[in-house]
Amino acid sequence: MYVIPFSMGPVGSDISQIGIEITDSEYVVVNMHIMTRVGKRVIETLGSDGEFVKCLHTVGAPLKAEEQDARWPTNATTKYIVHYPEDRSIVSYGSGYGGNALLGKKCFALRIASVMAKEENWLAEHMLLLGVESPDGQKNYLGAAFPSACGKTNFAMLIPPKALNGWKVTTVGDDIAWIKPGKDGRMYAINPEAGYFGVAPGTSEKTNPNAMATIAKNTIFTNVAITEDNDIWWEGMTKEPPKNLTDWHGKKWDPSLGKPAAHPNARFTAPAYQCPSIDSEWENPEGVLVSAFIFGGRRSTTIPLVYQSSNWAYGVYLAATMGSETTAAAFGEVGKVRRDPFAMLPFCGYHMGDYFNHWLQFGRNLQAPPRVFGVNWFRKDAEGKFIWPGFGENMRILKWIVQKIRGESNAVESPIGWMPTYDDIDWKGLDFTPEQFEAIMSIDREEWKAELLQHAELFERMYDKLPKEFIFMRELMLSSLWRSPAKWKLEPGTVLNYQVLKVIK
Ligand code: GDP
Ligand code: MN
Repeated sequence: MYVIPFSMGPVGSDISQIGIEITDSEYVVVNMHIMTRVGKRVIETLGSDGEFVKCLHTVGAPLKAEEQDARWPTNATTKYIVHYPEDRSIVSYGSGYGGNALLGKKCFALRIASVMAKEENWLAEHMLLLGVESPDGQKNYLGAAFPSACGKTNFAMLIPPKALNGWKVTTVGDDIAWIKPGKDGRMYAINPEAGYFGVAPGTSEKTNPNAMATIAKNTIFTNVAITEDNDIWWEGMTKEPPKNLTDWHGKKWDPSLGKPAAHPNARFTAPAYQCPSIDSEWENPEGVLVSAFIFGGRRSTTIPLVYQSSNWAYGVYLAATMGSETTAAAFGEVGKVRRDPFAMLPFCGYHMGDYFNHWLQFGRNLQAPPRVFGVNWFRKDAEGKFIWPGFGENMRILKWIVQKIRGESNAVESPIGWMPTYDDIDWKGLDFTPEQFEAIMSIDREEWKAELLQHAELFERMYDKLPKEFIFMRELMLSSLWRSPAKWKLEPGTVLNYQVLKVIK
């Protein structure tokens, strides 16, 4: 048995919280040392009467009848991951998987913390945090919520294309954000974690060089393939797999069987400070000032590349109705759109309707609530290919977003919010035609009617606690879709008087 005292967030920060995990797994011990701040200094900060979240974990084992404890199931193939928000404790039985065993992460930092946050007026979110610096040295921090396997780690470590010289992205966190209102009426966020527990397959020098540099040392690899010379490998690391691999089961890998060598959900656990793009403020106990939120799922149709909500309430609506298509890595039917409000459906510790109300109220209490944007990197053409190159090229969209926050970029009004025209995006160094842009930005009334029907379905599931604003916002969107052309397109050269607004301000 191991006892692990850990701090979520910099030790001693007002935003941080302490937990103690008891586990029978060495795997958990070594991972927790990377993912959280562990040790004596945590116990010292806690003192003799401090509050902490109680975390109990066992991988479980089939028990003999006489050994049975009434509380435990007897069959280790049964998993119980149980949260008790009332007394802030977690009991996890029968699973060694990171999300179920490293109890500081999803169990504490999201499920328990979301309840604390509701009670104490803050937010615990499934969000990456990044900094964006423009060539003139101005910097903004943003939070972005994408469901699992929709690109959080990649976006948090984005390397801008060479042509966007002088723009820089820095990483504060890649998965979870704790956000508190400051005395100045604005939002401040910390990353409660100290490491990255990232999906390995698909990570390569090409897609995410910062992640590759981060995992070059002091890293734990789980369920990856092993090369002849005891190095690691996974699908997508290199184009051709090396010869004589051992698969994640520990058996000689036979590529002709068509099964991957690494598990599709194979992971790396690496210390955050090893990330070349780590932000200078990532351990600031005060947190970083958040000026915008981005929400986005994996959608092959319907949702445009980028759009902005006209105000806070619409932003909450956008996030609450977010959907994503299931991937092979996730469980269930592949390609089906599932609603995942705020990417928090699996992680919110209380009723989703109350959660939406908490967000609405949180913004009302702020002097200047952050701007809210929707993105979709995953829209596909008729052949089923991604239209948008994604990854580093997402910087072009991020640049428009940051300039929009600062009142330096243009947008037009669409049936669903504000949108950039082709001319508002910096295309330097990328061959992306106005026709391609149109294909990824157009709003199809029929597709949106189906989309809004799904919103209504979601609302019915939580009707008793649904913010009533949502019903009217949905109606407004429907009527603005009907007032617009059936296939709404951005007209090149349309200019909103945004610059004028800026001058007045
Ligand atoms: P996370 O689980 O939200 O942190 O997602 P990851 O960053 O680990 O990425 C999940 C998957 O999405 C990986 O297979 C990535 O290669 C892929 N991905 C990430 N960003 C993009 C993007 O901008 N475009 C496309 N097409 N795929 C992406
Ligand atoms: Mn991730």
